[in-house]
Amino acid sequence: MAPHATSNTVSTSIVEPTAPKMKTALEALSQGGPPLTGIPSFPSHASQRAHQLEHMAAAFRVFARKGYTEGMAGHISLRDPENPHTFWTNPLGRPWCLMRASDMALVDYDGKIIGGNMSRPVNAAGFLIHSAVHKARPDVNAVCHAHSPCGKAWSTFARPLEMINQDACVFYGEAQSVYKQFGGVVFDEAEGQRLAESLGAKGKGMVLTNHGLLTVGQTVDEAAYLFTSMERSCQVQLLAEAAASNGLQKQVVGQEEAEYTFKMTSDADGLYREFQPDFEVEDYLCNGEFRK
Ligand SMILES: [Zn+2]
Repeated sequence: MAPHATSNTVSTSIVEPTAPKMKTALEALSQGGPPLTGIPSFPSHASQRAHQLEHMAAAFRVFARKGYTEGMAGHISLRDPENPHTFWTNPLGRPWCLMRASDMALVDYDGKIIGGNMSRPVNAAGFLIHSAVHKARPDVNAVCHAHSPCGKAWSTFARPLEMINQDACVFYGEAQSVYKQFGGVVFDEAEGQRLAESLGAKGKGMVLTNHGLLTVGQTVDEAAYLFTSMERSCQVQLLAEAAASNGLQKQVVGQEEAEYTFKMTSDADGLYREFQPDFEVEDYLCNGEFRK
């Protein structure tokens, strides 16, 4: 008989109960089969940059397909993975539906184009907004801003989106802010800084009163998905408000449920993955043209 197997032997080794491993959002979403993967990793800055610029070009085409364009307004920026004080953005006036990876210009924090496509200027207002956000939020690698119709319509009320459905909960609490003053088209640095301050340290999306929407992300995919989600949430809120004005009562998601839903749907890997269906559609529609 093994010495430790007698009934009066007290084991001195304490086995701590292992805490159940929390599932990631993607694991929780995946039933059967291996869970979907999140943000890919890359062997070099060059391969990471190439991947990100392709996804950025695709994001413009998604925005065009969904009707977010308004003349030359709107921009997306992407922090360079190797030189974090520089970012890629779209050339002024280039149609979003035709955007390619090679169209993007690399600008520094002084607003000088230092790489990529140097044949056109970038949007001056866009530079001030995006540089202010990139400076204020080192955790943010991409920023999307557009004058999309439902975002613009909801922005006239200078109010945050309400947690009136599951999808809106990705903007729960400090993840959403409202920039209440419209200071005219952004042509001075201070206005850009005020916008970045209003977004706050945890903001994912911001309503810019009388102007439009702005979203940010760890990846350009996350920022782009959040933009499509916020625009849709503005549309749904406007529909709900119209129905409510006829006397129907709105029911808002409970705080605890909203908090839990936010926690389970707002991580960077999950939000990267949320953009991939739209990316794949765009890839199919243009036969990979945006990769050029
Ligand atoms: Zn704007």
